Amino acid sequence: MSERAPTYDVAVVGAGIVGLSTALVLARRGYSVALIERRPPQRDRGDLGFDIRTVALTPASVALLRELDGLDGDPPTPIEAMHVWEYDGAASLHFRADHDVSDPAGSAEALAHVVENSAVTTRLWAGAGERLGVYAPSSVTDLVFERDAVRLLGPDIVARLVVAADGADSPVGTLAGVVRRAERGRGQHAIATVARASRAHDNTAYQRFGRTGPVALLPLTLAGGVDGTGAVETESHVAVIWSTSEPEHERLKSMGDEAFMDALDRETEGVLGTFEAVDRRFGFPVRQSLVADFNPNARILVVGDAARTLHPLAGQGVNIGLEDARAIGVVATGGDLGAPDTWRAFARERRLRSKLMISAMRTLLAAYSGAWASNPWVRLARNTGIRWIDSSTAAKSQLIREAMGLGPLALGTASS
Ligand SMILES: Cc1cc2nc3c(=O)[nH]c(=O)nc-3n(C[C@H](O)[C@H](O)[C@H](O)COP(=O)(O)OP(=O)(O)OC[C@H]3O[C@@H](n4cnc5c(N)ncnc54)[C@H](O)[C@@H]3O)c2cc1C
Repeated sequence: MSERAPTYDVAVVGAGIVGLSTALVLARRGYSVALIERRPPQRDRGDLGFDIRTVALTPASVALLRELDGLDGDPPTPIEAMHVWEYDGAASLHFRADHDVSDPAGSAEALAHVVENSAVTTRLWAGAGERLGVYAPSSVTDLVFERDAVRLLGPDIVARLVVAADGADSPVGTLAGVVRRAERGRGQHAIATVARASRAHDNTAYQRFGRTGPVALLPLTLAGGVDGTGAVETESHVAVIWSTSEPEHERLKSMGDEAFMDALDRETEGVLGTFEAVDRRFGFPVRQSLVADFNPNARILVVGDAARTLHPLAGQGVNIGLEDARAIGVVATGGDLGAPDTWRAFARERRLRSKLMISAMRTLLAAYSGAWASNPWVRLARNTGIRWIDSSTAAKSQLIREAMGLGPLALGTASS
């Protein structure tokens, strides 16, 4: 690398939703920011017209992405209601945005919005070119720590702070010596796809806890409510995220489309009628993990999936990553961002928040799919608890506000 390598205040590695948002937040604070991405985002669309990778954004995430111009107008699919139930009990939970959310800042019209991952990344990417030093396609091959900066080999640049936002495998985290602890046990596997149902989804999200794990159906509507020919969309599409044991996952992945749709009909108890079409299936291992330190060196920060991975059952992975981006914007108010102690409080608070979320997911999974889940006493306790929550306006409101990113736990660091 030449001695006169381009020098930046910050280098963000990874242009997923979290890396792009972090880079743009810092650029808006007046920092010079490099963004390094090995595979520039592209708009993906499957056979049914949607990207198979979708995320449910909390209102807090929608607000940040709007600010960063990451959404094309209003996100097309609001989740106005949610229905959660299980295979082995009579109790179920129902949430409605217009009923269960008391939002002092205004009436909540939606619990969340479902967006296609590549619709957001390609839009943020389009805005990145003029504000950031973009290096793509490019991969960081090594980090060389100097007295007051870090050299990134690969893009061949120098930065005072390196932000690893390079996803769950985080090659940059590995280069920086980040220690990541995964949950013990074999973990679950998940299948993601998009399917068309015979009954209207009515902007409702469904989650059913089965014997081996939860299956979620998230409503999807094409942008503008029109299909590819310009006709008003009348079909009912949902994003499917089905978490299960490894052997069951293998079976579901390898069966034909018809057999898969039949299995999905049964697993969701025909809540949306019958499934009529399904896109290709994408399988991935699910293991919750957390880094030992979000700031293992004064000049390294780890965010998004590079910092922790959550079970998809809560649909919070991208939301907690966007909280990282917001919290970074709060700390970054001037000076050398790699100066000692700049990020210590951030690192503590973000780790605590992640730990709480991981524990909550672990408890929920154990209650429904763990070794004791079918025990009659566990079943009784579960159903009694669910009935109580469903009948308690205050408990429901608190639960849903936390899931929407409006509760005290979510707001701890992100908005202080
Ligand atoms: C099927 C599915 C459904 C999900 N549903 C939800 C949901 O409903 N709600 C929710 O909140 N979350 C959901 N999640 C989780 C969510 O998608 C992730 O938490 C989120 O996308 C992580 O974003 P990220 O930017 O941290 O990482 P990624 O999106 O993984 O981005 C990392 C980027 O880094 C790049 N990169 C990697 N290594 C290098 C390198 N060495 N050099 C340069 N670039 C590199 C990659 O190419 C990639 O672009 C879901 C995940 C899946 C798989």
